[in-house]
Amino acid sequence: MASQNGQQRPHQEVGHKSLLQSDALYQYILDTSVLPREPECMKELRQITANHPMNIMSISVDEGQFLNMLLKLTRAKKTMEIGVYTGYSLLATALALPDDGKILAMDTNRKYYEVGLPTIQKAAVAHKIDFREGPALPVLDQLLQDETNHGSFDFVFVDADKENYVNYHRRLLDLVKVGGLIAYDNTLWGGAVAAPPDAPLPGYLRHYLDFVLQLNQELAADPRIEICQLPVGDGVTLCRRIR
Ligand code: SAM
Ligand code: CA
Repeated sequence: MASQNGQQRPHQEVGHKSLLQSDALYQYILDTSVLPREPECMKELRQITANHPMNIMSISVDEGQFLNMLLKLTRAKKTMEIGVYTGYSLLATALALPDDGKILAMDTNRKYYEVGLPTIQKAAVAHKIDFREGPALPVLDQLLQDETNHGSFDFVFVDADKENYVNYHRRLLDLVKVGGLIAYDNTLWGGAVAAPPDAPLPGYLRHYLDFVLQLNQELAADPRIEICQLPVGDGVTLCRRIR
């Protein structure tokens, strides 16, 4: 089904990627404020990703707009992304950074990254990206061994294996600077975080639910950060390091 401005509705096969209770309202946001302002390169990457079998993994277009704005507002320069997939959030980040900005981007699957790489290169932002293939946790441990990396990152976006979010948090807090931000994606987990214990949930939601719940509890109780839970996409929790 085409939307009012003639573009294909993103994510129609899985319903909307927002926790808003009305598809029409979400579509209104997309049609009015998001899709008409989406940069051409991001639109191209979103369309390429739509043809990829794992396209459900990409962040939503409105979340991309949010990340881009957030990075500009905070004037982030040195950033990290855990969980790249085809690079939609990575491109939203790269476009927001100054020309000498840097993103340490990690994913266990380089093939996913290569799907989006030609578009990223065409957008002339590939020089900001240091992509590392492999699990992120050992990379964080390696970074921590060098004191100069401590407190050096302005922004981190975490959108990967939910079972490791708590492990990432314990390391990232040392790597992000005081006043810097860590953004955790999928923290409302399709609404499952508030579902009754006996609710019939799709297998993958049920499987990772306890990890998301544990993360949310740890973040809420962590005195080293201020937090803000946003109902953007599947839920984004912003954590600002305060000490
Ligand atoms: N942020 C991406 C976007 O906007 O398109 C979506 C990321 S997708 C939800 C999660 C990604 O995390 C997958 O590409 C997967 O290969 C990667 N991943 C899974 N386990 C990982 C790990 N231990 N370390 C790094 N990346 C991992
Ligand atoms: Ca996600």
